[in-house]
Amino acid sequence: MAVTLFLSKLANTGAALVDVFTIVRCDSALGSDTINAQVDRISYAKTSSGAGQDRIEALVQSAGNVVVSAVPNGTTIPDGSGGMIPVNLVGGATYPPDAAGLIQVVYCFDNAMFGFDAAGGQISLPRSDILFHELSHAFHRANGTFNAADPEFQAISDENTYRAQVGLPLRDPTNHNGGQGPGDGRQVPTCTGMGPAGPTGPTGPSPCCSC
Ligand SMILES: [Zn+2]
Repeated sequence: MAVTLFLSKLANTGAALVDVFTIVRCDSALGSDTINAQVDRISYAKTSSGAGQDRIEALVQSAGNVVVSAVPNGTTIPDGSGGMIPVNLVGGATYPPDAAGLIQVVYCFDNAMFGFDAAGGQISLPRSDILFHELSHAFHRANGTFNAADPEFQAISDENTYRAQVGLPLRDPTNHNGGQGPGDGRQVPTCTGMGPAGPTGPTGPSPCCSC
């Protein structure tokens, strides 16, 4: 079994691990092993099922190498167009495979962000939900199923399977807009005491969205 999901130790490894553990709903089969000074490697063969467990297991067994960096509010990241942008304005980003074949995922773990439901209401995007969204982009890039024509419809549709699992209202997959703020304030329920507390963050719209 290929094991190909890594957590960057150049970023906040602990925050990333908490969020991956939250996504697998505290399935104790999740493991993290030190590989080198740069990354830890996730190991996982699920012992419970759900959208979160299924996706993390699939990533661990995928052919591509995915590296997750959890970074704080204010960190600037490449915007994909040659510039830089604060991560808290976009929630997260996933990049095409680099020269080494690594698919880099970066997301903000300490901001409050919202997206929109089908009725146009603001709904919260908890940190593990943002990570799940980015990991959807990474999963499809790693497996040759990336929808280049409409990647956000694909990722938000995937994200909604996790949101349904944890009881959050669903995003409108045709509306990629969002911003900084608590939305409806809903958080992912804790599982065995590991659900991270939700940040409060600023309120009001921002120019972008969770990418
Ligand atoms: Zn996206």
